[in-house]
Amino acid sequence: MKEKRIVSGLRPTGKTHLGHLHGALNNWKKLQDDYECFYFIADWHALTSEYADTGIIKDSIYDIIIDWISVGLDPEISTFFVQSHIKEHAELHLIFSMITPLPWLERNPTYKEQLRELSQKDLQTYGFMGYPVLQAADILMYKAHGVPVGEDQAPHVEMTREIARRFNNFYQEVFPIPDVLLTPTSKLIGIDRRKMSKSYHNAIFLSDTSEKINEKVSQMITDPQRKRRADPGNPDVCNVFSFHEIYTPNEIVQQIDGDCRTAAIGCVDCKKIMAKNLNNALSPFREKRRELESDISKVRDIIENGDTRATSIARETMAEVREAVRI
Ligand code: SF4
Repeated sequence: MKEKRIVSGLRPTGKTHLGHLHGALNNWKKLQDDYECFYFIADWHALTSEYADTGIIKDSIYDIIIDWISVGLDPEISTFFVQSHIKEHAELHLIFSMITPLPWLERNPTYKEQLRELSQKDLQTYGFMGYPVLQAADILMYKAHGVPVGEDQAPHVEMTREIARRFNNFYQEVFPIPDVLLTPTSKLIGIDRRKMSKSYHNAIFLSDTSEKINEKVSQMITDPQRKRRADPGNPDVCNVFSFHEIYTPNEIVQQIDGDCRTAAIGCVDCKKIMAKNLNNALSPFREKRRELESDISKVRDIIENGDTRATSIARETMAEVREAVRI
């Protein structure tokens, strides 16, 4: 039995892409060796931005769990559950919302940033502003010792720590203060050189066919200064090269580096090599995905087992919380 526990989740707002793989899932996989891991589908969090059209949320849940297992997260070792199946999260969120000062939420840096980024949606809602309070409930419910997050989410975990301290001070020591476990930022960006995101239509999905990947890679923007085949390129600023660094054997990466700088290789050929290596790397994931899709009851059982395990811990925590708050 591992001594330390971590909790992390993903919003079910579409299919898993390479940004998720390199920004979170590969790290989650490693953490399984040292921590007792609780990984959840954050469907209530998805609702904060997708409330007007919720179809995508339910449709994504199975897809995401299948992707997690396909890339090597192990439901025998880690607990996978769906946030909205554990109603205790809503109760703890409500209690935390009573003790969280409004200015903490108003000055949350990611709140304003997301309002700007998702300007096509009306996010001036009570629920969206309270996102970090719900996140605190998700984490503290399982008395996590750590939370693996990217830099952009670190302020939220900081707020979780503040909420835990405030609760412990008002009532009694119920919650440990979780550490931020910073996940190194992925170098991979979308095919148009913006952050990889489903909403920008620039993502390479784990479930893409090899034909689709070939097509997307052929559209990738490379070194913007390299206008003609005869111009030397600069791999340091080329997104295709960042993919090579992950998916291509090292000696070939060195060769491409030199050939690009001397214009000995053109971008079309360079992309073809990368697409082939990327497809090879994704091939075992596709195989596993096919196997799971043909036995969906197995995925349902995995979720049910995870929900049961999460529920039993959540009930214990809420019993302590109710006693502490005396309500
Ligand atoms: S040759 Fe390859 S590394 Fe160089 S700019 Fe073109 S795609 Fe990028």
